[in-house]
Amino acid sequence: MNIRIGYGIDFHQLVEGRDLWIGGVKIPHTKGALGHSDADVLLHAICDALLGAAALGDIGVHFPDTSQEFKNIDSKILLARTRQLITDAGYQIGNIDSTLCLEAPKIKPYVAAMRTTIAEILGIAETAVSIKATTTEKMGFVGREEGLVAHATCLLF
Ligand SMILES: [Zn+2]
Repeated sequence: MNIRIGYGIDFHQLVEGRDLWIGGVKIPHTKGALGHSDADVLLHAICDALLGAAALGDIGVHFPDTSQEFKNIDSKILLARTRQLITDAGYQIGNIDSTLCLEAPKIKPYVAAMRTTIAEILGIAETAVSIKATTTEKMGFVGREEGLVAHATCLLF
């Protein structure tokens, strides 16, 4: 059996005047993530994990932030396109595991909606989508609420 592992990481600044999209869900907060697209850190990390598992490069290769096509784009579209690239390469998605690093807000109330959203886009069961979260105990740029980070791993077969 040809099992492939993938890993992705993404960072975005948190700034006032932007919406906060995480895992395809809009979360009420005083700050939002800065980026060329909607800056959904979790979906971007998952895209990179999937692309990495198939050795297809990274999100910047397929969806460059210099392209007007992707300006303010809904990252759910990028995830759907990534799924297509994976399918075209002959792989199926086994599972996703991920961890968000952010100080605030608490994302627990939104995790179920994120899992549903991601599972639907990827055509896998919600039980195959894991989303965990941690603070950095007030340390570093995450602790100062200057930004947020997402890590994701996946298996393809
Ligand atoms: Zn990103």
